[in-house]
Amino acid sequence: MNWDEFAHWGRQIADWGASYHKTLLDRPVRAQSVPGQIAAALPATPPEAGEDMAAILRDMDDIIMPGMTHWQHPRFFAYFPANAAPPSILAEQLVNTIAAQCMLWQTSPAATEVEAVMVDWLRQALDLADGFTGVIQDSASSATLSAVLTMRERATGFTGNRDGLSDKGHLRVYCSTEVHSSIDRATWVAGIGQANLVKVPTQGPLFGMDTDALDAAIRADIAAGHTPAGIIAITGGTGVGASDDLAAVLKIAKSHDLYTHLDAAWAGSAMICPEFREAFWQGVDGFDSIVFNPHKWLGAQFDCSVQFLRDATAQLNTLKIEPEYLKTSGAAVTNYSEWTIPLGRRFRALKIWFLLRSYGLDDLRGRIRNHVAWAEALCEDIRAMEGFEITTDPILSLFSFRAPGDDDTQQRLVDAINDDGRIYLTQGAHAGRRVIRFQVGQFDTTEHDVMMAKTVIQEVWETIK
Ligand SMILES: *Cc1c(COP(=O)(O)O)cnc(C)c1O
Repeated sequence: MNWDEFAHWGRQIADWGASYHKTLLDRPVRAQSVPGQIAAALPATPPEAGEDMAAILRDMDDIIMPGMTHWQHPRFFAYFPANAAPPSILAEQLVNTIAAQCMLWQTSPAATEVEAVMVDWLRQALDLADGFTGVIQDSASSATLSAVLTMRERATGFTGNRDGLSDKGHLRVYCSTEVHSSIDRATWVAGIGQANLVKVPTQGPLFGMDTDALDAAIRADIAAGHTPAGIIAITGGTGVGASDDLAAVLKIAKSHDLYTHLDAAWAGSAMICPEFREAFWQGVDGFDSIVFNPHKWLGAQFDCSVQFLRDATAQLNTLKIEPEYLKTSGAAVTNYSEWTIPLGRRFRALKIWFLLRSYGLDDLRGRIRNHVAWAEALCEDIRAMEGFEITTDPILSLFSFRAPGDDDTQQRLVDAINDDGRIYLTQGAHAGRRVIRFQVGQFDTTEHDVMMAKTVIQEVWETIK
């Protein structure tokens, strides 16, 4: 393909993209294909001769699109959102086209310097203290793994990387029972092990960690000769939005000199609204590491996860490696690949720059406020439905409910709603029972899109009950 043809097809794809987004409401939200259907439509062997781009794009529509679930559909209420505001898509197209690998300052100074400034813009937007720096990672899972590795190294006097863990005894990490599975996985990969991830029970309306139980667990571990390494708190857990009392967790952490990491992957975006900070963000400045995903609620196209660090030294001492071929001569500069596990890095900061400049924080706040208000309104509508039960009240824009009947009935209702295709939602578990999760957060969703979900739930329920 030459660059004139590239320009031609680029324009075609831009037009395709606009029409795709404008007609999303005509499509079922969740893909309606069956397992194996898409693979069966592809040739089993690669082509020997090049094919025409027109034919490839035709197959895009005919073969690929039926197998896509539409995350940008305004009636996507499943999981958490993975928003992609149009300016962030445009920024990604520029990044794709320039295709720089931004591992070191000198491999694209603009990428490093825009990243530093965007992390600081977001620090201010989230009302974090002056002094936090940070880095953009691919996912909250990677940021959490970086934090857990840092806990491990700090607790072993920075000898784990060098000597291995065989003589380190039991390193212990603490969190609540409501944390995301990425925390479990981080302890597996860090060599700490699931058995040394201590899950403390939760309490209260926000399902926060019982900090007396946390303190007791740490003391018992010390008495048993184990080595406490760190605490992971959450603001906005994936199941039902569980949120820890940050100040109370920090108090315990401080009394045992433990490294702290906060997983605010989803709910962090809402902290651009001052009115939510009272309940969810008090004391946040004491955390050593905080992760939130602008690629979820804020509108920066996936992937884009920001890890803030109160002092980057411990993480750099854990992850920095500088072979001869990566050394940079001259003035001191930031090489962000030293802050993370992968060496290669995409220019993710550009989409934040486009997003924040194009909308401004005020517009983004308005969207998040709407989502929270509409989730609360829909929750009341469902509460009023005959036999339906609200199992957890809205925490920000996430609540859960049950239809009359057992766990299997809940799953049948979820599956039937998603087969219907007008809306998309997913199941979860709470207090030992299956629940149906509902979150509002798609960038372009409207009040009507949210409130019509009640009609869909009601109508589908009538067909399966
Ligand atoms: C989505 C989510 C994660 C995982 O995020 P990735 O970026 O996909 O790794 C972790 N924790 C919470 C609370 C989340 O909502």
